Amino acid sequence: MTSRDINTLTVIGAGTMGHGIAHVAALAGVDVFLYDALEGAAAAGISKIAKNLDKGVELGKLSRSDRDVALARIRAADVLETACASSDCVIEAVPERLELKREIFAAVDRSVPDRSLLATNTSSLPVAEIATALKRPARLVGMHFFNPVHVMKLVEVVRHAAADADAVARAVAFAERLGKTPITVTDSPGFASSRLGLVIGLEAMRMVEQGVASPADIDTAMKLGYGHPMGPLELTDLVGLDVRLGIAEYLSEAIGPAFTPPEVLRAKVAAGKLGKKTGEGFYRWSPDGKRL
Ligand code: NAD
Repeated sequence: MTSRDINTLTVIGAGTMGHGIAHVAALAGVDVFLYDALEGAAAAGISKIAKNLDKGVELGKLSRSDRDVALARIRAADVLETACASSDCVIEAVPERLELKREIFAAVDRSVPDRSLLATNTSSLPVAEIATALKRPARLVGMHFFNPVHVMKLVEVVRHAAADADAVARAVAFAERLGKTPITVTDSPGFASSRLGLVIGLEAMRMVEQGVASPADIDTAMKLGYGHPMGPLELTDLVGLDVRLGIAEYLSEAIGPAFTPPEVLRAKVAAGKLGKKTGEGFYRWSPDGKRL
């Protein structure tokens, strides 16, 4: 089997990641069902995709007709079972909670064809534990995309101990077809990227707490001193402080105290300051997504 077999994709969760995955798949010629449990969220996801495609046209990265064809390939779905019934691949991008992901895959398993590849976009949870919600855990892999999906090139393909080599190979080929560069990682807490990226992010937050420097100066240190394209605190605002807190809590248990969430992170999440998506995190953001 090759990624060519994947002509229809169902994306579950139309938030930050889900709408981005739908965007790149549609541009690569795949028909997409975008499903979200929250009423109106799939339609809102499609509006965001339209905006991002429009930007691509403005920048001369794609033609207006490519934009129109890609957009026409994406349909909002409001029933999970119908959205999965004829899909060659299902990618889940719902919030980072193990029980939620297991419930979703148990429901997907009841309606999806046997041939379908199943993938979770989890940033850190054990893929093996999500997989045991399925009758045949071997067909689930991790496909960890990066934010914003239509820009970032990396996909971590996560292979758990019981995964089919064929499922891993299909996920690698599908990621390539979407224009991404896949790496293959063993199922271990935080995989390669979240584990390494979060250590830097959490240390930057501790430095803010200790008054070492302002968020903007800490970010500049990493950009100009180490060549990172974005500083760790701006990245945290982009990813979502709630998302990073969830991962830190899990990794502090799974790996150790280097991942203990700093107080400043807990306090901002408790205050609803979740980053760009709520207008404030370590920075303030305008409604059209510009840093203030
Ligand atoms: P998000 O909160 O932006 O979006 C999640 C979406 O899932 C929401 O629209 C919500 O309504 C929907 N949802 C909730 N319960 C659902 C259900 N039962 N069925 C269908 N839809 C449901 O979250 P996100 O940032 O897109 O993260 C999604 C996943 O991707 C998480 O596992 C996260 O760890 C991972 N991830 C996030 C990032 C990032 O930068 N935000 C990067 C890589 C991976």
